[in-house]
Amino acid sequence: ATPTSIMVGTGRAAELGVLFRKGEALQALRGAKVIAFDKTGTLTEGKPELTDLQVGEGFDKDTVLAHIAAVEQRSEHPIAEALVAAAQERNLNLPGVSEFDTVTGMGVSAMVDGVRVNVGADRYLRSLEMDLAVFADTAGRLASEGKTPLYVAIGGKPAAILAVADKVKAGTPEAIAALHRQGFKVAMITGDNKGTASAIAARLGIDAVEAEVMPDGKVEALAHLRRQHGAVAFVGDGINDAPALAAADVGLAIGTGTDIAIEAADVVLMRGDLRAVPQALALSRATLSNIR
Ligand code: ADP
Ligand code: MG
Repeated sequence: ATPTSIMVGTGRAAELGVLFRKGEALQALRGAKVIAFDKTGTLTEGKPELTDLQVGEGFDKDTVLAHIAAVEQRSEHPIAEALVAAAQERNLNLPGVSEFDTVTGMGVSAMVDGVRVNVGADRYLRSLEMDLAVFADTAGRLASEGKTPLYVAIGGKPAAILAVADKVKAGTPEAIAALHRQGFKVAMITGDNKGTASAIAARLGIDAVEAEVMPDGKVEALAHLRRQHGAVAFVGDGINDAPALAAADVGLAIGTGTDIAIEAADVVLMRGDLRAVPQALALSRATLSNIR
């Protein structure tokens, strides 16, 4: 490709809200076989909401929710915001907390009214040797609905199962359909539960799912996709996504996401709308075939 054709291509991309930080990215995009997306905040809005709360025997719903929100007030995870908002909507008074702790990719914990409260993924509570069998049926149903099941333990006992759900962004189904028409495989990489991720992937027609990926495991998930399908373009928005954006054959960051993700990326999507991805790919093909 000549420098001029790349300039023209990147100029046209900019009109579409696609910013090429490196000229080579236009060429690299053309070689991609699979387009992998982060789920939360990329395929979805990244603004989860509490949809379900079922308490175990002997526990009161409002008390449990107040305990959850008290702990989550200390967390910056989008899930935390959803749970605090739910307690606020119900005008619950939140008890004081101490000894707050975040277990990355798993959940959070703190002391509330003299008892230990843990909130997080099933793997988190299982790692604390808690038996979640009473909630198994509910968890399966929630995941099959594309919701993320979470558990709460109070004083070392499983107290409740809850679920949060996040809306798929408006342009996402169309973007995926366009990528398929262009002949790409589409993949999802997420820290979320396998059942939940599979349900969302099935609904969106996504071909490959890497779920329950720990924040430092996204690069490895990418390598797995590359071994199976070939060169990978990765689209993400979060701090967690920065290493994968740098490691991908092409990294595309959502411009409304975190600065760290943008800095690690080759391409920045100025708007959150994923329809810009197939547009950028079409442009990369058109620009580079003009040169021949
Ligand atoms: P993702 O970006 O896909 O949500 P994370 O690594 O941030 O990935 O989180 C993975 C999982 O860990 C979440 O789906 C959730 O089950 C659990 N988790 C993380 N932070 C919290 C929190 N503050 N409260 C409850 N659960 C959490
Ligand atoms: Mg994200």
